[in-house]
Amino acid sequence: MSSSYEWDVVVVGSGFGGSVTALRLAEKGYRVLVCEAGRRFADDEHAKTSWDLRSYVWLPAVGLYGIQRFTFLNGLVALSGAGVGGGSLNYSGTLFQPGDAYYRHPQWAHIADWRSELAPFYDQARRMLGVNADQPLSEGDEALRRVAERMGAGGTFTKVPVGILNGPIPGQPVEDPYFGGAGPDRRSCIYCGACMTGCRHNAKNTLPKNYLHLAERAGATIAPMTTVEAVAPRAGGGTRWRRCRRDRGVDPGRRSPLIRWYSLQACWRPSDSSSG
Ligand SMILES: Cc1cc2nc3c(=O)[nH]c(=O)nc-3n(C[C@H](O)[C@H](O)[C@H](O)COP(=O)(O)OP(=O)(O)OC[C@H]3O[C@@H](n4cnc5c(N)ncnc54)[C@H](O)[C@@H]3O)c2cc1C
Ligand code: SF4
Repeated sequence: MSSSYEWDVVVVGSGFGGSVTALRLAEKGYRVLVCEAGRRFADDEHAKTSWDLRSYVWLPAVGLYGIQRFTFLNGLVALSGAGVGGGSLNYSGTLFQPGDAYYRHPQWAHIADWRSELAPFYDQARRMLGVNADQPLSEGDEALRRVAERMGAGGTFTKVPVGILNGPIPGQPVEDPYFGGAGPDRRSCIYCGACMTGCRHNAKNTLPKNYLHLAERAGATIAPMTTVEAVAPRAGGGTRWRRCRRDRGVDPGRRSPLIRWYSLQACWRPSDSSSG
C-alpha cells in the first residue's frame, strides 16, 4: 500500500458490524482505524443504575456521554448503543439464531440453501461471542415456564442463549475462557440483571472483550469520542474523511468545548486491492 495513505481502512462505529470488520481486516494486515462516536468504558465506569444519566444516556447536546443512544424520529424514539463496543454495551446479551420461517422466506429461499450456507458463520460468531445457555433458571423464568404449561405450550419453553460467561461459581475470576490466552481474563456472571446499563462485572461478552480486544492486538487503532461527520472522494484518489473530535478525556469533569477538525487521508484505492 502507498505510504502516503495513513490508513487502508477506516471503520465507522465499533458495534457488532464494525468490530468484526476491524478484526478481520487487521488480521489480514490492513492498517485499520475505527472511529467511534462514544467513550471507552472500563467495567467500573458503567452506570450503577439507569438514573446515573452521565454514564447511561448518550445525549451529547446536553453533555451526556453514556451508552444508551436515543434517536428521536417522527413519532418514534429509536434506542441503540454508543461507546467502544456499540450496542454490545447496552444490549441484553441474548443471541438467537433465526428459525425455519426465516430461511424459507420467498424473497431469498430460491437463491441458496441459506441454513447450510450460513451455518459456519453462525458457528464462528457463536464461538467468538461465547454463546451458551448455562445460566440457572431465575424465578421469572420459572414463572414463564408455568404460564407456558398452563397454556398447553410447555414444550416451547427453552433457556435463552446468551453471550455471557456463566461459570460454576458466580463472580469467580476466570483466566481467558475463550481465546486460549489471547483474550482478556474474565469473571462469571453474578446474575445482577444489570446487563442493559452495562456490565460492571466483566461477565457480559461485550465486543471490547472479544472482537475489539483481538483487533487491537492485531494492530487496529480505535479512536473513541470521534464522530465521522462527512465522507467524500478526494481529488487524486482515496477518500477524504472529516471527523469531529471532542477530547473529553482531557478533563472528564468538564464538558469540552474542543471541536477539532481533521482531514484524514484515507483509505482504499481500487489499485491497492490486489496487494492485500
Ligand atoms: C436496549 C437494547 C437491548 C438490545 N438487546 C439485544 C439482545 O439481547 N440481543 C440482540 O441480538 N440484539 C439486541 N439489541 C440489538 C443490538 O444491540 C443491535 O442489533 C446491534 O448492536 C446492531 O449492531 P450494529 O453493528 O449495526 O450497530 P451498533 O452496535 O449500534 O454500533 C454502532 C456504533 O457506531 C457508532 N456510530 C454511529 N454513528 C457514528 C459516526 N457517524 N461516527 C462514529 N461512530 C458512529 C455508535 O456510537 C455505535 O457505537 C438490543 C438493542 C438495544 C438498544
Ligand atoms: S454480571 Fe450482571 S450485568 Fe454482568 S452479565 Fe451478569 S447479569 Fe448481566
